[in-house]
Amino acid sequence: MTDVIDQFNSAADAIRDDYIDQRNVLSFAEYLTEFAKDPTRHLRDSARYVLDAIDHFGTERVKRPWGRETRYKIFDQAFADPSDRLVGQENAQARLREAIASQVRDGRVNRLLVIHGPNGSAKSTLVKCLFNGLDHYSRLPEGILYRFRWVFPTRKTSHGTIGFGARLKRDNIESFAHLDDDDIDATLECEVRDHPLLLLPLHFRRQIMTEVLNDADCKDYQIPDHFLEPSLCHRCRQVADALTRTHSGDLKKVLAHVQVERWVMSRRYRRGIVLVGPQMSADAAQRQITSDRSLGALPIDLQNMTLFETYGPLADGAGGVVEFEDMLKRPLDTFKYLLSTIESGEVMLGQAILKINTLLLATTNDDMLEAFREHHEYPSFRDRLSLIPVPYITQVSTEQKIYDYQLVPNIDRHVAPHAVIAAAHWAVLTRLHKPNSATYPEVLKQHIAKLTAGEKADLYEDASVPERLSNDEAAELRDAIADMRQEDAASWSYEGRYGASPRLIRQVLLKASLSEKYTCLSPFAVLEEIDALCDLVREHPFLEREIQEGGYHDVKAFVGLIEDRILDALEADVRTASGLVEESKYMDLMEKYVNHVSQSVKGEKVLDPTTNDYIDPDEPMMASVETKLGITSDNAEFRKGFISRIAAWAIDHPGQKVDLSIIFPKYLRHLEMAYFEEHRQKVAKIAGYALEVLTDEEDTSLEPEHQRAGQALAENLIQNAGYCRECAKVGLAKLFSKRFDK
Ligand SMILES: [Zn+2]
Ligand SMILES: [Zn+2]
Repeated sequence: MTDVIDQFNSAADAIRDDYIDQRNVLSFAEYLTEFAKDPTRHLRDSARYVLDAIDHFGTERVKRPWGRETRYKIFDQAFADPSDRLVGQENAQARLREAIASQVRDGRVNRLLVIHGPNGSAKSTLVKCLFNGLDHYSRLPEGILYRFRWVFPTRKTSHGTIGFGARLKRDNIESFAHLDDDDIDATLECEVRDHPLLLLPLHFRRQIMTEVLNDADCKDYQIPDHFLEPSLCHRCRQVADALTRTHSGDLKKVLAHVQVERWVMSRRYRRGIVLVGPQMSADAAQRQITSDRSLGALPIDLQNMTLFETYGPLADGAGGVVEFEDMLKRPLDTFKYLLSTIESGEVMLGQAILKINTLLLATTNDDMLEAFREHHEYPSFRDRLSLIPVPYITQVSTEQKIYDYQLVPNIDRHVAPHAVIAAAHWAVLTRLHKPNSATYPEVLKQHIAKLTAGEKADLYEDASVPERLSNDEAAELRDAIADMRQEDAASWSYEGRYGASPRLIRQVLLKASLSEKYTCLSPFAVLEEIDALCDLVREHPFLEREIQEGGYHDVKAFVGLIEDRILDALEADVRTASGLVEESKYMDLMEKYVNHVSQSVKGEKVLDPTTNDYIDPDEPMMASVETKLGITSDNAEFRKGFISRIAAWAIDHPGQKVDLSIIFPKYLRHLEMAYFEEHRQKVAKIAGYALEVLTDEEDTSLEPEHQRAGQALAENLIQNAGYCRECAKVGLAKLFSKRFDK
């Protein structure tokens, strides 16, 4: 029993000590010492603070087909629940950061950051990640924040009305900051969390800031305007003035009443991080403090004043960020009020003014923003808005991650391979625009005019280009991907505004996961759900867009295209699982071909690696490879051209190992296909055994040898390719009905 009590006591003591440590209560003089140690950490307004928080988490370069992009790791949420992370959207991240950085350069918050996009794009996630990041950062030493409160000691302690007992001296400077609660009669919080430095009179504050920055070798640091103006809140001003009168202008005695304390931002408690829903209207207001029991304990000078407290979102968010969710759903007057607040940097509260030190964000959907831009007053608002677009994603693998992170962990069934990507693929296809071929270089015009929606999705996925292009054209097309993505970025009907929203795709996946036809979340269930969805044109206008040449907007045809891809992927999985077909085999064949052809062109013999003898080039082997490559004309001519292509490449890339997959991607693909084709029947046979084994393990009529082979293939699918027995069975059956028997 005593053990438990001992444990309890020491745990309680540890918690109390932690609390005291973390509370970091300082006198004003102690705070000044902290400030001098690291002035740039303390001299931050809200914009600077948020920018530092973003940069604190660092960056990462990611490679996309359209170029390299910077990801700000704050949006990866490694410090919080990573399922909340922002997938993709590197451009939006960069735009948001830049919009904040530009306010830092301006020295003040002077714009509303409007995060806009279609419904269900990641607007709220972007904001949520930023909020979580701030919440986390403010708890770190780098993100330290201080506020203060006014402390009024008991008369007994203070010897008379207000005075100082000898025991209150610390560092030879008098302060009530460290008094025990028993010795304090009243405290007054600053509910807008004024920065402690604002307590210094302006001219003196400027002088101290400059000197401290100079001493810390930070002379070039740009002090935010907030510190260069009389920014103290109305009530703190009243208290400071009253105390100045009481102490006959002795600043040290006034500041003795200041207790500086660390604070941390909290989204949950709306402290420095505030989300305002469209139904909430009061941005800030004041009310008189009336019945607070502690008021009677205030010094006489203060008792005679009418004290107000500020409340509302702008007060809660002071020093941090406020987001106005669905901004344009509010009455336009509220919006105008907010913009005039931003322009002046102040909010009028009755007789008083509140200086804004809050980064202001808003989210809105594109339809509302587009309508708002038609408003006759819009031009006068324009300069006070920074627009940050958050479109839908147009890269399949990135889109897939949204569901892998946010949805898959919540699905009770086994998620079959290729199920999630099937949904992501369809989503991306519905969003793609037909490129305008007229705007591209001459060599590309005809190819871009013929580019299908499926091919465009592949281009955006991994820069793979249609086979019909020559190597040079393929390189040109790859270079054009970045332009293609920007093609209509400036217009209102930009690519990524219309099409299936992630919200809709989530519903599709959830419904498919409840399908009675399948035991797993099957890619075929996903396709069936999408097929059914395609008929709901009244609910989803994007389903009804005019179909363009190249299959753009042809939402039903996409289902067929994706089914083909799924079958390709299934077949590849089965091929690998059969163990019959080693992917490296056709590469070896290609290398052998190159070796023999290069000697035969020179009229020389080939060194046989097994016998170490010089032999004649293997004519039947070369001819057979050429047949597989689809060469029907003059083989001798082809061989010469083939070898000179390699030679030319080697000259252009001195010192590099010859990489056939770069020089002849198309030929390698042909060889691969031919190789697979050759083995297809064998693979299909074993796949048939596997299907039989999976369907009826106990009682098969298979020969033991066949049963073993089938068993091995099935095991491989399950152990190495992410299938379970059920979806392996479904996949194999589909292959037999759609592929192997044809
Ligand atoms: Zn204040
Ligand atoms: Zn399964």
